[in-house]
Amino acid sequence: MLLKVAIIVLIIYIIVVTRSRIRLPNPALQATVDVLQAATLKDEHVMQMARKYIDYADAQNALLPIDDPYAERLDRLTSRYVAVNGVPLNFRVYKTAQINAFATADGSIRIFSGLMDLMNDDELMAIVGHEMGHIRNSDTLSAMRKAYLTSAARNALGATGGVIGSLSSSQWGSLAEKLAGSQFSQGQEYAADDFSFGFLQRNGYDPYAMASALEKIHRTSQRKDGQADAVLQLFSTHPDSFSRAARMRAKADAAKALPAA
Ligand SMILES: [Zn+2]
Repeated sequence: MLLKVAIIVLIIYIIVVTRSRIRLPNPALQATVDVLQAATLKDEHVMQMARKYIDYADAQNALLPIDDPYAERLDRLTSRYVAVNGVPLNFRVYKTAQINAFATADGSIRIFSGLMDLMNDDELMAIVGHEMGHIRNSDTLSAMRKAYLTSAARNALGATGGVIGSLSSSQWGSLAEKLAGSQFSQGQEYAADDFSFGFLQRNGYDPYAMASALEKIHRTSQRKDGQADAVLQLFSTHPDSFSRAARMRAKADAAKALPAA
């Protein structure tokens, strides 16, 4: 036991001083070390990784030019929103039938054109507000941290100073796979929905927009004609889109019942 404690103390020392990745033959000890290593990885380095990741993701997807009608619609709706919690925002559209949206820790929000086809402006802003909520609550930062540390990119941080070196395409692929496979918890989703609800209220959008956006996503995911396949990751892996919609509808009902201030 004492030996184990001594080893862990030594490992913490090595991690903190050299910031290097440590590999151990003992899986239980390795898990402990991974948690420690995650804790010592600085936010600024995770941000740096997120910035590089979004460049990779943009290059891998059909990124629409800013004069495309989809991009112009998104810009018209979002240009007022420049930052959340001090993180500067940037919005772009991927041209794809898939129904999805995501945010990364550096403030990048990517909306898929399939989602834009499905949503009216207020519903689209509800989704944007939800993604802003994930940035505001640092969910995106935690997800990137976890994906990085469990991917083949994990050694990319230089041993000195934590500078991210250039990643090979297989390292990027591994990181992207980990990120795509990661899910936010129900608590994180509810919190992002709540953030979006406040965002809609503060900015004069339809308070029912989050509820109706989630209802549309839920209905689409239930279809039998192949459209359901277009509802990706973020939404389809969350069987609770129905309960999230009900929760948002109840919230909008309650807000309406309050006497006007
Ligand atoms: Zn979410």
